[in-house]
Amino acid sequence: MTDRIQEITAAGRRIVAPYITPWTGEEEPSRTVVEHRLGIGYSDEVLGDRDSRGVLWHTHASFPGRGRPKFGEMHPQRQRRVMRKLLCQVCAGPADQSDEGVLWLLPDFRDDWPGWPTRMGLDEPPVCRPCLRLSVRVCPALRRGAVAIRARGYPLCGVYGAVYSRGPNSLVSRDVRTVAYEDPAIRWTRAGRLLRELLDCEIVPFDEVI
Ligand SMILES: [Zn+2]
Repeated sequence: MTDRIQEITAAGRRIVAPYITPWTGEEEPSRTVVEHRLGIGYSDEVLGDRDSRGVLWHTHASFPGRGRPKFGEMHPQRQRRVMRKLLCQVCAGPADQSDEGVLWLLPDFRDDWPGWPTRMGLDEPPVCRPCLRLSVRVCPALRRGAVAIRARGYPLCGVYGAVYSRGPNSLVSRDVRTVAYEDPAIRWTRAGRLLRELLDCEIVPFDEVI
């Protein structure tokens, strides 16, 4: 969705970047990854480098608005914040929630399996209705390529990140993938995105949420 929001303009004046979009002025400081008890850590690790489950995270500076937005990418700490708190990925206000569940706007892959997107592990945070309305109004292509869904279940299930292993001389990250919390590789992972599993989903016609 973030690569499409770039087409949204506020009253035709300027590009508005979603809250989770990183900016070119938010460089990731160079950190040295080291083996650390039963997994990896930073050589200069501080308290905020891990989440409440002890998973190590990429640490980007946070200066939204500095430089140019990098559409299609996600800022690790802002993505984690809105996903964890169920906030809108565009405006960071509360995501829309009703008796039918929390609202998501997703690329339409409903041919992938019967019941899609139930059981999908997802890095896209939810949205609020005004942001969904704005997205669809300003970018009509979304109506064809995307789908609004409501999910009644959305447990946190893991992260997407770089998995490290011991190389001949030092640690190497060979794999960037989804890692579930119960996977032992989680202790060897440097996370970039927080994932939820969508359960009990229903596709909502755009007209109903707009
Ligand atoms: Zn919003």
